[in-house]
Amino acid sequence: MEFELSDHAARRAAQRNVSPDEIAFLLKHGRFLHNTGVIFCQLRRKDVPDDLPGNHRYRRLVGSTLVLCRCGHFVVTLYREAKAFHHDNCKTRYNQKPETYISCPYCRGVVPGAGAQQSD
Ligand SMILES: [Zn+2]
Repeated sequence: MEFELSDHAARRAAQRNVSPDEIAFLLKHGRFLHNTGVIFCQLRRKDVPDDLPGNHRYRRLVGSTLVLCRCGHFVVTLYREAKAFHHDNCKTRYNQKPETYISCPYCRGVVPGAGAQQSD
């Protein structure tokens, strides 16, 4: 799938040693959850393909979450927090600080809240 990272997401990825191919893996195998104006994509343990070797580096991505524009091609941010993925929590957390908006280069839509995940 074609995708692009926001500057914020690229910084986050670098901080967390998540490479572009790992983001592509998340997008391919993660579970998508549509939320308010964005899409969450999280990789759960059971989403990892059975034929992936047990020591493969992709396995450490379990619990990682991408936040995408609703068009699905623009990664707004990412974080690694296995327990944060409850629908209600996402909504609450994500709407806490909606002052940051960035525009998506694909659909030209405005995406809320790259700054909403500053706690880590
Ligand atoms: Zn978009």
